[in-house]
Amino acid sequence: MNIHFVCIRRFLWALPCTMLAVIPGVVTLLLGGSIRRVGHTIEVGVRHSQEQVPCWISKYPFGAITLGHVIIGQSHELLAVLRPHEQVHVRQCELFGPFFLIAYPLASLWALFRGRKPYEENAFELHAVRESGCTEKMSAIT
Ligand SMILES: [Zn+2]
Repeated sequence: MNIHFVCIRRFLWALPCTMLAVIPGVVTLLLGGSIRRVGHTIEVGVRHSQEQVPCWISKYPFGAITLGHVIIGQSHELLAVLRPHEQVHVRQCELFGPFFLIAYPLASLWALFRGRKPYEENAFELHAVRESGCTEKMSAIT
């Protein structure tokens, strides 16, 4: 199969997830953020280094979020550290396509139903941690 066709198919299949990044991505840019292209993803960071991140943002319990082929993070410094984890989420979006928007919350509900933590013990998070060896927590660089 032609490699370009595979790339286009993955891009289009994940597009509904990617579209969710438009508003938070624009807000991040309006807050002084910047964009970088890394491989076949776009990384949007609020600031370059974690030291420059405003306190009200740095207190968030996670450092980055992946929406399709867009990864929004507190800083590009933190995005670089979390990249292996977030890239696993990108591949999950490419695999599940628009169904990822349903599957991820259902995995959280399933974890909650079993008396587990809905975020940390979400099957998609556990997979990303297992594959990358890191979490999305800020402790990755602090
Ligand atoms: Zn994650």
